[in-house]
Amino acid sequence: MTTLRKMAEGLAGLFYPKLCLSCGRNLPPGTLKICLDCRSDLHYTDHHLYLENHFSDRLFGRIPFYAAAGLFVFRKGGRVQPLIHALKYKGNHQLGVELGRQHGLVLRESEFFADIDWILPVPLHIKKKRLRGYNQSAMYAQGLSEAMNVPYSDRILIRKTYTETQTKKGMDDRFKNVHSVFDVAKPELIRQKHVLIVDDVMTTGATLESCAKAVLAKVEARISFATIAIAEH
Ligand SMILES: [Zn+2]
Repeated sequence: MTTLRKMAEGLAGLFYPKLCLSCGRNLPPGTLKICLDCRSDLHYTDHHLYLENHFSDRLFGRIPFYAAAGLFVFRKGGRVQPLIHALKYKGNHQLGVELGRQHGLVLRESEFFADIDWILPVPLHIKKKRLRGYNQSAMYAQGLSEAMNVPYSDRILIRKTYTETQTKKGMDDRFKNVHSVFDVAKPELIRQKHVLIVDDVMTTGATLESCAKAVLAKVEARISFATIAIAEH
């Protein structure tokens, strides 16, 4: 960030108090963006400690992969939900980087994620990216990359052209389309590598699964997954 911008933000902070991103209460100046109450109430997982966990269970048998970890459990109405909302719909892209850094510090302590070669964010649809101005998964990937000291790229795992009629089709067709929307550019970069495919929230895992399939259709690679949060069933 430029000095000028830092100064401007510092000045703005004098007049507009900062609010907790999770609960919206005022924060004391110069503190973190999530208040202490919310921090202590965020539900962290222990996924990085076990190859078998709730995350890997959900994907088990669908695709070959190695390790999988979410940072938080996402509960409807819980403290994590407003964070994801701020990241996706309120333009708070820096929050994605910060959560990535936080998760990266956790993952770099895990032997399962010790030999990751590439961090690949799930590509956002171009129309959504235009609307939002950024890919929230790429922001998260950037933070992970900084903390884990592993490169990330949003140009390896890519999206094929938009399936315009997707929403008009029936459920079965829609699932068929999901499997074909991702592709790998520059496959030679990830051949025989350990790639970490990352997204904001893991729900059914369909997106991660189809990204993994796109990778494995092109090259042999070891695949692991990380997300900011895993939705509770
Ligand atoms: Zn709070």
